[in-house]
Amino acid sequence: MYNKIPLLVCAILVGCFSSLLRASEFNQVQISTSTPVKAPVMIQGPMPIEAEYFASLLTDVRTEKAGNVTFYIGKLDGFPVVVAQTGKGLENTAAATAVGIERYRPQAIINQGTSGGHDPALQVGDIVLGKRAVNASNFKTPFRKSGAGSAPLEWLPMDLLASEGSAGEGDSAKDAERIRYYIGNETLLHAAHTVKNRYTRGKVVEGTIASGNFWNNELDRIAWLHKQFGTSTEEMETAAAAQIAHSYSVPFLGIRVLSNNLTNGGHYDPSTAEDCQQFVRLVIEQYIDTLSTNSKKQK
Ligand code: SAH
Repeated sequence: MYNKIPLLVCAILVGCFSSLLRASEFNQVQISTSTPVKAPVMIQGPMPIEAEYFASLLTDVRTEKAGNVTFYIGKLDGFPVVVAQTGKGLENTAAATAVGIERYRPQAIINQGTSGGHDPALQVGDIVLGKRAVNASNFKTPFRKSGAGSAPLEWLPMDLLASEGSAGEGDSAKDAERIRYYIGNETLLHAAHTVKNRYTRGKVVEGTIASGNFWNNELDRIAWLHKQFGTSTEEMETAAAAQIAHSYSVPFLGIRVLSNNLTNGGHYDPSTAEDCQQFVRLVIEQYIDTLSTNSKKQK
């Protein structure tokens, strides 16, 4: 009696499998683990005018929030893209970058948007590709006695990542008196150069993007930053995103359009925000194209 049970189980299983193998009347979907999920590209923009146009280009979109950031998760020409509307400034951007990396594991990040020119040779509408990004609000002031006033053009740069020791006092302090530049990713830069002639609103140049929670309107201060830090344009986000992206080893590039340039009388023009996103679209499409060409070459 007992040794008949395994036989019975076998018979039932065989019956089940053979009915599975028979053509079913039901619709089917067959999923294979051999097609890896592609990591998305992440596009960051601080204000709605700097993110919503790009978000509108995506298909199959869903949105997620985290603190002050809104993520638009979708596809551009079938490729996964996450647009992050980060909010303005260093803190929002750093948080949005860390949360964005942890949640979506992007293979590359572009931070883009408007900015104010430091270089008189650049016009409103021109685009700066961030060969370098720098935090232009990290300073240490030399000592001045009470009543001696403040002299911002004598301030020293301060690198908060120089060591784990104090940046202000003690042995480690001297090492911290330096400028830290974040270098833009070569592959992303190359993609941007490949499509730069298709941008018609202005020229596209490589340069240094300066970030800080600061809107500088003092021409002498702007000239000082331009000379001492080599800045091309200023805004409030790129260096924060670059710092976090580098800490996670995620390829990063800043792309900033000039929406204003006090050094040559260029008035603020918010329409530049959309022009910048149109250019970034070309860059992303070029980048995706290069990825698929490279993966075909490897096969
Ligand atoms: N004029 C805008 C205010 C923008 S606030 C308005 O009225 O809506 C600052 C934002 O603009 C930041 O996200 C910053 O990155 C960008 N920005 C553009 N030009 C800038 C400049 N000259 N200095 C600092 N930030 C600038």
